[in-house]
Amino acid sequence: QKELVDYKGLGISVLEMSHRTADFTKILNTAENLLRELLNIPENYKVIFLQGGGSGQFSAVPLNLIGLKEGRHADYVVTGAWSAKAAKEAEKYAKVNIVHPKLSTYTNIPDPSTWNLNPDASYVYYCANETVHGVEFDFVPDVKGAVLVCDMSSNFLSRPVDVSKFGVIFAGAQKNVGCAGVTVVIVREDLLGFALKECPVVLDYKTQAANGSLYNTPPCYSIYIMGLVLEWIKNNGGAAAMDKLSLIKSRMIYDIIDKSNGFYKKNRSRMNVPFRIGNIKGDEALEKKFLEKAVELNMLSLKGHRSVGGIRASLYNAVTVEDVQKLATFMRSFMQMHQS
Ligand SMILES: *Cc1c(COP(=O)(O)O)cnc(C)c1O
Repeated sequence: QKELVDYKGLGISVLEMSHRTADFTKILNTAENLLRELLNIPENYKVIFLQGGGSGQFSAVPLNLIGLKEGRHADYVVTGAWSAKAAKEAEKYAKVNIVHPKLSTYTNIPDPSTWNLNPDASYVYYCANETVHGVEFDFVPDVKGAVLVCDMSSNFLSRPVDVSKFGVIFAGAQKNVGCAGVTVVIVREDLLGFALKECPVVLDYKTQAANGSLYNTPPCYSIYIMGLVLEWIKNNGGAAAMDKLSLIKSRMIYDIIDKSNGFYKKNRSRMNVPFRIGNIKGDEALEKKFLEKAVELNMLSLKGHRSVGGIRASLYNAVTVEDVQKLATFMRSFMQMHQS
């Protein structure tokens, strides 16, 4: 708050700072070094900070990687709204193979042993945590040596991850590691240099990596905020500690759901817990009442995504165990008041 108007006594804000100054270079390097440390990122991976959000990467991934092999094939695992969007965007540039039969509801992950991987695919894509539907991978799929690409936007740094298993990991910062505006891309060096010629230069991993994310003006302030959040994660025990907390927090809510005799319904992500109230489709009047009462108790943003309705408790790193305890207590008393 203090640094917003005067960064370290310089008399100016990071908001005003040129991205070519020594002071900003330090901010950028600090953020990258913290990321490398927190995720144990191997040296043969580049870390770049881009604009365009997670959705920008839905285009950047095929534009940069489809050229890895002849034929423009790509494999997609579609377990929810975000991977579905990514696959749709990829169809502009790639022949997309969905590796499993289309799911009628997004409530689980099809068994990887049944996936129909195309040996000609340039990469295999999945989303580690489906933010809207609350479907989370608790494993890294074995894709038989294919280049693995993962959207970690909504569970980034909520647990340790073995980066060496991936070709590309990307994550918009705004869910778990900062504010909107910056997207982290972690890319293995040998995958650089295959971008299609029509790939916009600002999305070209090779150009951005070669220029240390400074090909053009990066989202300076968002990078600065992310650096502060990374420092906070480090001081609070790193990715392993975030994992522990995420498990504790999500179990508190799932426990109530499981013991509610169907009053609350669920999926199983540690980050996003969508649920309905009253019956399987949700009693909308009861859900409205729940949300109104929650706001009175200063619990905001519990409304489910507009595409699915109901309630969604997002338990990102910034949400404390105490916050979740408060929600759990409220859920219990609400159920007691309304269960027929
Ligand atoms: C929010 C989200 C996105 C989209 O991020 P934008 O920055 O809004 O483009 C993509 N993937 C996942 C998993 C998300 O949660």
